[in-house]
Amino acid sequence: MSDVIISPEMLARYNKPGPRYTSYPTVPAWTGTFGEEEYREALADVSARPDEALSVYVHLPFCAERCTYCGCNATVTRRSEVVDVYLDRVERELDMVTSLLDGKRQVVQLHWGGGTPNFLTEPQMSRLVGLLKQYFTIEDSGEISLEVDPRIGTVEQLAQIRALGFNRISLGVQDINPDVQEAIGRIQPFAQTEELYRACRDLGFASVNLDMVYGLPLQTAETFQDTLTAISDLRPDRIACFSYAHVPWVKPNQKLIDVEKLPDTFTKFSLFRMAIDNLGASGYDWVGMDHFALRDDELAVAARERRLHRNFMGYTTRPALHMLAFGMSSIGELAGRFVQNESHLGRYQKMVDAGQLPVVRGYKLSDDDLLRRSVILHLMCNLELPYDLTTKLFGVDLREALGDDLDRMEAYVEDGFLELLPDRAQVTPLGRFFVRLLAMELDAHLARTSQKIAFSKTV
Ligand code: SF4
Repeated sequence: MSDVIISPEMLARYNKPGPRYTSYPTVPAWTGTFGEEEYREALADVSARPDEALSVYVHLPFCAERCTYCGCNATVTRRSEVVDVYLDRVERELDMVTSLLDGKRQVVQLHWGGGTPNFLTEPQMSRLVGLLKQYFTIEDSGEISLEVDPRIGTVEQLAQIRALGFNRISLGVQDINPDVQEAIGRIQPFAQTEELYRACRDLGFASVNLDMVYGLPLQTAETFQDTLTAISDLRPDRIACFSYAHVPWVKPNQKLIDVEKLPDTFTKFSLFRMAIDNLGASGYDWVGMDHFALRDDELAVAARERRLHRNFMGYTTRPALHMLAFGMSSIGELAGRFVQNESHLGRYQKMVDAGQLPVVRGYKLSDDDLLRRSVILHLMCNLELPYDLTTKLFGVDLREALGDDLDRMEAYVEDGFLELLPDRAQVTPLGRFFVRLLAMELDAHLARTSQKIAFSKTV
């Protein structure tokens, strides 16, 4: 990638706002008229397909304090008993949802996200694992993962997490520089991260991931180089390098970030280039938009073999057909529908108390949506469009299905973003930086949804 030159002018020209396509259609296309009844229909469809494996996501929103850069759906509290009250509702939700499924279903992927899942005490974690095992059969070989904040983690807690059956773990690092940490309200000495990382290795987690963020206040090429080196020296299996999105009108906590200290667009982009080049030189492959994996990690192998998938939990090699999601603000994807729960803690709990499935919006994909979703996700994950992709999946010729949209995408050949080969359209190394522009040409909802939300840019 180091031979790809992107000038400030080129970045200014192509760094257009657009969706990240973690889903298609994207969230702004979903509607509030999709509610409990529609979710029940979706669950009935899943129930009618008993052999199809499930993924399960649980959102655990609690954090001890709010980091100023935070873009997550988090609830700050110091009171552990608040979690017990929440888990009562998650239990009720599990009961309501699984009562609509025929029998105890197999789960191949389980993920706890947040918030801070390790804000839970050991008895609370044990309770939740027990509940999940009561309502589902979790495959022994399944991916059982959670996100951990090293600032409140201990080696003892990690041992408890491992003993509960978790085999994958993500530690949040963001940046190791003390000034950057001060500027984002997240003080986390590197020694603490390192101690927990080494404990994860000793405890035998099959996969240890570290999360970092670029575009934070006071990050410079020098500080970011230190962070990259420190992180890659630990040799985690995977590294996520997320772009910081400064949206204080959506996330008021970000008003505490001094905008004067944020890197400008080109500097921010240069930081990401550093991650690609430096991690590449350290043995990591760039996977998807913002992930890196050791070259022999299954994610890197899947990306090379062009069979990478993604869902709301992130990139995966094991796509389950249905993902059920529990807890406030969680997003499920099942039987051709997206389903999102209420994002406000109090309202989520009230809905569950009233015996309601706490769904507030969702979307049922049409045949055209399903086809475009496959095409866009394959393009975003695997950087190509095989001409027989839709014929294999839907029995419809790609050109017939997408017609003019495909022609518009091909206009990027001249810009050097796309190469037309005999069997496929291939995203070039340059085009990879702007692959969202190609996907946007295939998005049938974009004209409508782009008025509903200010999308993020490439950087
Ligand atoms: S960044 Fe993470 S730990 Fe910090 S407030 Fe947000 S969810 Fe909590």
